[in-house]
Amino acid sequence: MTKYVYFFGGRTAEGKGEMKNLLGGKGANLAEMCLIGLPVPAGFTITTEVCNLFGDNGNKYPEGLVAQVEEALKKTEEVMGAKFGDPTNPLLVSCRSGARVSMPGMMDTVLNIGLNEKTLEGLIKKTGKDRFAWDSYRRFVQMYGDVVLGLKPQSKEEEDPFEHILKEMKTAKKVELDNQLEVEDLKELVKQFKAAVKNRTGKDFPDDAREQLYGAVAAVFASWGNDRAVVYRRQYGYPHDWGTAANICSMVFGNMGEDSATGVAFTRDPATGEKVFYGEYLINAQGEDVVAGIRTPNPIAMLQKDMPEVYAQLDDIRGKLEKHYRDVQDIEFTVQQGKLWMLQTRNGKRTGFAAIRFAVDMVDEGLITKEEALSVGRIPPDDLNQLLQPIFDPNAKRKAIDEKRLLAKGINAGPGAATGIIKFFADDAEEHVEKYGKPDSHGKRDPKGRVVLVRQETSPEDIRGMKAADGILTAFGGASSHAALVSRQMGKVCIVGCKELEINYKTRTVTVKGKVLKEGDYISIDGFTGEVMEGQVATKASEVVQVLIEKTMKPEDSKVYQQFAKLMEWADAVRTLKIRTNADNPTDSERAISFGAEGIGLCRTEHMFFEGDRIRAMREMILAETLEARRAALAKLLPYQREDFTGIFKAMKGMPVTIRTLDPPLHEFLPHDDKGQSEMATELGVSKEKVAERVKSLHEFNPMLGFRGCRLGLVYSEITEMQARAIFEAACDVAKEGIAVEPEVMIPLVGFLPEFKAQAKIVNDVAKTVFAEKGITVKYLVGTMIELPRACIAADQIASEAQFFSFGTNDLTQTGLGMSRDDYGSFIRHYLENDLMPRDPFQTIDFDGVGGLMQIGVEKGRKTRADLKIGICGEHGGDPDSVKFCHKIGLNYVSCSPFRVPIARLAAAQAALGK
Ligand code: PEP
Ligand code: MG
Repeated sequence: MTKYVYFFGGRTAEGKGEMKNLLGGKGANLAEMCLIGLPVPAGFTITTEVCNLFGDNGNKYPEGLVAQVEEALKKTEEVMGAKFGDPTNPLLVSCRSGARVSMPGMMDTVLNIGLNEKTLEGLIKKTGKDRFAWDSYRRFVQMYGDVVLGLKPQSKEEEDPFEHILKEMKTAKKVELDNQLEVEDLKELVKQFKAAVKNRTGKDFPDDAREQLYGAVAAVFASWGNDRAVVYRRQYGYPHDWGTAANICSMVFGNMGEDSATGVAFTRDPATGEKVFYGEYLINAQGEDVVAGIRTPNPIAMLQKDMPEVYAQLDDIRGKLEKHYRDVQDIEFTVQQGKLWMLQTRNGKRTGFAAIRFAVDMVDEGLITKEEALSVGRIPPDDLNQLLQPIFDPNAKRKAIDEKRLLAKGINAGPGAATGIIKFFADDAEEHVEKYGKPDSHGKRDPKGRVVLVRQETSPEDIRGMKAADGILTAFGGASSHAALVSRQMGKVCIVGCKELEINYKTRTVTVKGKVLKEGDYISIDGFTGEVMEGQVATKASEVVQVLIEKTMKPEDSKVYQQFAKLMEWADAVRTLKIRTNADNPTDSERAISFGAEGIGLCRTEHMFFEGDRIRAMREMILAETLEARRAALAKLLPYQREDFTGIFKAMKGMPVTIRTLDPPLHEFLPHDDKGQSEMATELGVSKEKVAERVKSLHEFNPMLGFRGCRLGLVYSEITEMQARAIFEAACDVAKEGIAVEPEVMIPLVGFLPEFKAQAKIVNDVAKTVFAEKGITVKYLVGTMIELPRACIAADQIASEAQFFSFGTNDLTQTGLGMSRDDYGSFIRHYLENDLMPRDPFQTIDFDGVGGLMQIGVEKGRKTRADLKIGICGEHGGDPDSVKFCHKIGLNYVSCSPFRVPIARLAAAQAALGK
């Protein structure tokens, strides 16, 4: 018989920490905490396997499960000295979800299971606390009604039905907080809650303890498939078939009076990484009060005064847990009448800042090795982004404060600076960003398209809006609230618990100190300090960027930079993949070197044609009707190109520079509107008709598959000739100055060997001529991009002439999948949301399809030329998972935009370490 249920309690456990796949993270760690002697309320875990079986069998439990549950329940009752469903000595339990990775707040939990009017009496007798018992019952009916029976708000403006009843009661009784309600009020609330259930579902609220238990387990399993959990898994690439475990834990109560409390804490600060005990608690409350952010809790340091013995014990456990797990832990605890209980531990979610600081500090403390510090579990490469993100320009911020635009201060939960327009609802935020937030071709986003999501508190339903927003600001909640946890994980700027905000969802306004801001107004939030400012505030570069790029800060003045540098050094020591950059000018090249690039993997020469008056010469060339006229126009472009290459070669100081010959179709250089065409005609002294006619003749139905790439250089060989001349003249000039140069000329969009041969011949002939003219020879290579399926399949032939390959995965994805890189936006979301594709194939390589083509290309290419140098220069070169794939299939380098170079360095190190 398959074992479906694992008991834990006392100092024993059937499971252990390593069994996360089967028991989920929570279940495995509850078992592990028992094994290391920490105080954990007894209980048992129903495995993730049961969740999958339950779903597959039309919501039926597998045979044998009930017997195993009964057996584990019996053991639990023995350890806890109480009986489930017993009217005189009742044991209450919780049912908590827990997948193998933590998905904060995405799935469901039910507390106080086993309560009914009879066991309630038992509980009162046992504890002598009727207020506590009724409060627990009130909470149970509310939670069960919501999670299991589905009583939820039916529109986004509607309040939660239970909260509505509760609010009315508080108003009627003229109290502010839940805990100011009297026993009689609680009784009345239970009555009203049950009536609401009956009214909406037509069924009585269940009294039988076992019915309650199995109902809760079913709801927890079902919550694995709810929309927010599915969205979350999609975002992080977690498979849908992992399933969640259900953990049945004996209840311990933080709401048993002033000697009881509940809290959550991190063993170190998860926002900054500082080594301080960080967390919060509430006296006389249950766990969800802290996480839901309904009451703003006290900082953990205050517990030292409130409950000194408990604090000392907790601080001791903090040390034990870090030593045992060798990572920062996120814990949940409850104090019941002075006794401390541990309800959960897991590796703490952290910001990119904290991730690096934890890792570097822990290596220094001797807790972990450098290799462990680099692991993806500790530092997902994309998190480095946060260290490169802008911060507020101190002068602009000071000005905002002088202008009295500082509105309020909340808890700084996610570092960074965000300025954007206010949106109050997650779906509005999402829609707005979708419409206005797309970056332009330079990666810049219009400030109008940036959103700060302003809410009372956030809940898992808000996840899409949070993802779309630049910043999140909430009125309630503490540093462990949903908003804080999720923002931190997403790397969003976040402020929580900003009590001064009076948010009115109906009027879509937020009032602070008498000032009313409407939806659509600008607001700025500083996630480092918790400050909220009215209007826009200019941002400036992060410390790492200031040190490395702008050189406006000294390394010794920035701790963040020092830690970043250390980590990068460790990454470089283990990676085997080289990291290059995509850069078209000396400035970007220098930037990329500062970020650690080891060469240029793609210089798109066409970008150079748009600068200054070069476009004029380019247009002359396109309009030219004879070869001589075309050559004359190209001759004007030659000095510009030579100058560009000279600058780049100098900046790269002998590192390899891959220069691609002209790629885009010619009509991209011509104006398509009437006005532009008239202006061009005047400028070039030709008739407007002539311009319009040329534009028309160059029109293509599908330019991406049209007259571009090497096809241009083949039909107009003089273009390739000019570019090759510019490259070699620049290379010779720079070499003469004693600076090493290593040019690699790259031919785009090759599919047939003869295409490559013809272009390579031009390049080689020009090289010979220029070397003779200049009296100096430089080493160079002529290679090709691999961006067509045919090129992958015929790679053995192409490699007979090409001296290197570089995968252009943008085009290879486009041509391999038959999805236009410009038009796929109209359907990709549907694909992702319906699991038709695991990820956006233009962001992460489609491993099975495009990846398969790449593998064929590598194999065939190296069959002909064993030492063939192969890289990638499509956008995927900066995507961590794609970088790992490139390592796996044996590429020599990846090339990405300058700001992604550090991310690629870390991903390459993780690939080399197999992590
Ligand atoms: C590619 O296709 O991946 C590539 C790098 O070239 P471009 O994006 O310029 O077409
Ligand atoms: Mg391409």
